[in-house]
Amino acid sequence: MTGSVAVMGTGIMGTGMARSLVRAGLDVTVWNRSADKARPLADDGAKVAADAAEAVTGADVVVTMLFDADAVAEVMQRALAATPEHAVWVQTSTVGLAGTQRLAELADRYGRGYLDAPVLGTKRPAEQGELIVLASGPRALEPQVAPVFEAIGSKTVWVGERIGDGHRLKLALNSWVLSITAATGQAIALARGLGVDPQLFLDTIAGGGTDSPYAQVKGRTMIAGEFPPAFSLAGAAKDAELIVDALREAGDDPSLMQAVHRLMSTAAAAGHADEDMAAVVYAFR
Ligand code: NAP
Repeated sequence: MTGSVAVMGTGIMGTGMARSLVRAGLDVTVWNRSADKARPLADDGAKVAADAAEAVTGADVVVTMLFDADAVAEVMQRALAATPEHAVWVQTSTVGLAGTQRLAELADRYGRGYLDAPVLGTKRPAEQGELIVLASGPRALEPQVAPVFEAIGSKTVWVGERIGDGHRLKLALNSWVLSITAATGQAIALARGLGVDPQLFLDTIAGGGTDSPYAQVKGRTMIAGEFPPAFSLAGAAKDAELIVDALREAGDDPSLMQAVHRLMSTAAAAGHADEDMAAVVYAFR
């Protein structure tokens, strides 16, 4: 029976997930490197821990939602020894295949259960408990983590018992999401560059076979030139690099994702790293 959950990382996603866990009636403790981002969660009913080890003490489930594999490893190296022996570590950050391997080995060193559980969905689904959880690892751990998955997600896809299968599916999904975002930016930049109203691009595809709700949402943002982050350009560039590595590992041609990575890195370096990934449109100018 899971009653107590530690959420490590209260950025865009971790904050929403922590709120969904509290709403589900779980006993939630949060920790974040920059304490000012964790503190507001006390108003929602979460306990706010002063350090990573304090956060995981007594936790049945530890959820990590940090930027990348290095951040997760750094935090969990400090925290794992303080977790109860029965604790299960649910790793939801997008860390790639090598990162997943490294973190699973870290859990193993401390004898703790580990589930690879990247999520599909962004800020709003995280806040509303409507993420899709892509789980992999020992299915025997499911009863202990089920209340957590039910609170943060509308659906859990058990991809396989092999740790890393969740990430394998996640990287394939993100290759689609990042490509369609960059392709939308390209079409909008091209229309603009050729002197045509870019809104006509979105209006013309609307409702047809080449339309996509995602292109409409990101396209409107690009045209408005306002990029409040749902998923930061820095995060998207990080994922593009992880996907390039995965394509190489699979023996597939990485050139499309290399181009996406270069465009996202260029726009990030031009001062848009903390804006939404739709700011990739700047790379085409
Ligand atoms: P975010 O808002 O940028 O939050 C990043 C978090 O990582 C913050 O809590 C940050 O702490 C922490 N962090 C970074 N480096 C650290 C370090 N060295 N040590 C300790 N903490 C560190 O990012 P996010 O959008 O929530 O994304 C989190 C993860 O979820 C990423 O792996 C991302 O790829 C994945 N993801 C994101 C989305 C999305 O739509 N946003 C969707 C699915 C998956 P500070 O506050 O102190 O900087």
